[in-house]
Amino acid sequence: MRNERISELLAFARSLGVSDAKLLEVDRIIVEDHFRDLCEEPRCPNYNTSINCPPHSMTPARFRDHIKGFVRVLAFKFDMPMEAVQEASLREAALLLHETTAAIERRAKSLGFERACGYSSGGCKRTLCYEHADCAALQEGGQCRHRDKARPSLSGMGVNWQTLSKSLGWMMHKSEDTGDNTVMMAGLVFLE
Ligand code: SF4
Repeated sequence: MRNERISELLAFARSLGVSDAKLLEVDRIIVEDHFRDLCEEPRCPNYNTSINCPPHSMTPARFRDHIKGFVRVLAFKFDMPMEAVQEASLREAALLLHETTAAIERRAKSLGFERACGYSSGGCKRTLCYEHADCAALQEGGQCRHRDKARPSLSGMGVNWQTLSKSLGWMMHKSEDTGDNTVMMAGLVFLE
């Protein structure tokens, strides 16, 4: 029964147009403190812009603890041509990633993984709230304006993507359309 639900979830992820989706054991997710440090120095433009990025998001230590409560993880990725992640188009690419993560999380919940928890990449402030001065969730008593889409950034919590993508066999390759190297944008949905 559980395997059927997992197969259905993987099929759902693929139906959203992801380049690949795989299931892995949670202990393959490596969380390292120094990845979060890179958000601060050199300063990422998303740093301190929303509740989903450092210094407001979970610390690596807290995230390591948090994921101990899960068993498996659905990892998915989009291989995007270089131009899709350059400044002018980055918002669109990041939006696709946030929306896909949230959609897989919702589907997982509807399949009975009630604690399913999705994490994305790229800051939600510059993606979803670029027209607003501030992140609403950081205001006293405030709530996120886009709870149906915005998900925390994995790199901000110290997830080592390099190690993970290598172990999944997700390497950079040439785009069939342009011949340029592709860029990977990926998300994780944790399952109990
Ligand atoms: S209110 Fe906007 S910036 Fe803040 S967490 Fe939600 S989407 Fe991100």
